[in-house]
Amino acid sequence: MSTITQFEHWIGGIQVPPVTGRYLDSTSPHDGEVVFRIADGSPEDVEQAVTRAHQAQPAWGRTTTAERSRILKAIAAGMREDIDWLVELECAETGKLPAHARVEMLASADYFDYYGSVVRTLAGDTIDQGPRNLTYTRHEPYGVVAVITPWNGALNQGARGIAPALAAGNTVVLKPSEFTSATSLELGRIATEAGLPDGVLGVVTGLGPTVGVPLVSHPLVRRVGFTGSVATGQAIGRIAAERVIPVGLELGGKSPIVVFADADLDGAAKAAATGILANSGQICWTTTRLLVERSAQDELVRRIGLILNAKRPGVDFGPIITSPQFDKVLGMLDTARQEGARAAFGGHKCKDGVPERGLYIQPTVLTDVKPDMQAAREEFFGPVLATMPFDTEDEAVALANDSEYGLFGAVWSGDTARAIAVAHRIESGQVTVNGGAMGNETPFGGYKMSGIGREKGIEGLYEYTQLKTVSVGLPDLGTE
Ligand code: NAD
Repeated sequence: MSTITQFEHWIGGIQVPPVTGRYLDSTSPHDGEVVFRIADGSPEDVEQAVTRAHQAQPAWGRTTTAERSRILKAIAAGMREDIDWLVELECAETGKLPAHARVEMLASADYFDYYGSVVRTLAGDTIDQGPRNLTYTRHEPYGVVAVITPWNGALNQGARGIAPALAAGNTVVLKPSEFTSATSLELGRIATEAGLPDGVLGVVTGLGPTVGVPLVSHPLVRRVGFTGSVATGQAIGRIAAERVIPVGLELGGKSPIVVFADADLDGAAKAAATGILANSGQICWTTTRLLVERSAQDELVRRIGLILNAKRPGVDFGPIITSPQFDKVLGMLDTARQEGARAAFGGHKCKDGVPERGLYIQPTVLTDVKPDMQAAREEFFGPVLATMPFDTEDEAVALANDSEYGLFGAVWSGDTARAIAVAHRIESGQVTVNGGAMGNETPFGGYKMSGIGREKGIEGLYEYTQLKTVSVGLPDLGTE
């Protein structure tokens, strides 16, 4: 991209410059070049977006589910039409491989298709209270919903919250990460062009303290959907608790992949390697603790290494998306070595074949990791796998659950019954067995410190509704 594109907020169906007139630089992690200038939002900008969203909500909430479905599907179609542009923007800000970004953008569009479909099944219950009452429940929107997203998959995580929130009749103000705002702003434009009424979706960019905090604190915001770090989730949760508004938290993970010696070792090796290659491990649910039956450890690590050694930076895997995150991963690798872990593969930043300022880190497999080391406990959020052996099924389960997180898990074994039994014992919101699939239809969310609430699937729709019970006293018609 030759010229630097400047992005404004998207408020009330149009571009709106920041009240302060200030912009933030967005840089490419591939080579450190500034690629975009993004509106640096302030509480005044938040006020504007929330006010517009509040004004737009009653009419939007009164539309039929069929009408909302039609518009959501038009948004999906608009995103697919602009897919090349969205991929270009995402790759410029994140350094992602275009093929990876395309899959992610298409999955983002699919959220609008999916919730555009399932919203037509939105239904309450009737409750039998005898012949003189008609009692029923309604799933009603909250009003204005705030959606706040991180930098590793901004559009995807935004769509995951926005699509069900809009489907349920809420209006939304989105605050994407200051590092990766472009695709979210483009979603605002696409949604307006697809027929979404002005004000129903606003996008305000900027920093946590000046945009995120005022947004969550705003008296007209009635629910928050947050994806990001535990620390920020806790801070938002404190504000939400004061205001007594519900908050969905999709936080971090340190997910185990448990491999028994009787497993398809090639399949397990491929899954473990893909977990740290895809988006260079910057996926909250990716499996980053390799728990392997001791007798298979050397062979499994060897096979993972064969896959990783063939991968080239910038071709087969992308960079770390932000500079602070790059420093964090390298710092944690240093600590891992100091604490006695060994890098069987990788372990350093990439020097060859990448621009000097490229934030690339070698896909890394750590061995000699002990359960109390930082490498076993804390989220790298980078391309690092921490390997620990086990001898028994109970030990495997204990190791898998020895984490404050509980987002995801994977089990590999030739004995499917055993693998399922282990999957049931893992404390996490989702578990795959022998490479089972997850998609937009499958509920997603964390146990323990990985979060509160569920997104994706039909459950994700109901998270954005509040339940009302209505009871109608019927006249005595003298029929009894
Ligand atoms: P982060 O918590 O630093 O930032 C997330 C968002 O919150 C950003 O938009 C940021 O500007 C905003 N923010 C920061 N401080 C705020 C405050 N005080 N109030 C309101 N908003 C504030 O997270 P990050 O570094 O962008 O993302 C990485 C983290 O996200 C990792 O821990 C990762 O595991 C997690 N994550 C979780 C999921 C999931 O679905 N569970 C998905 C992706 C990433």
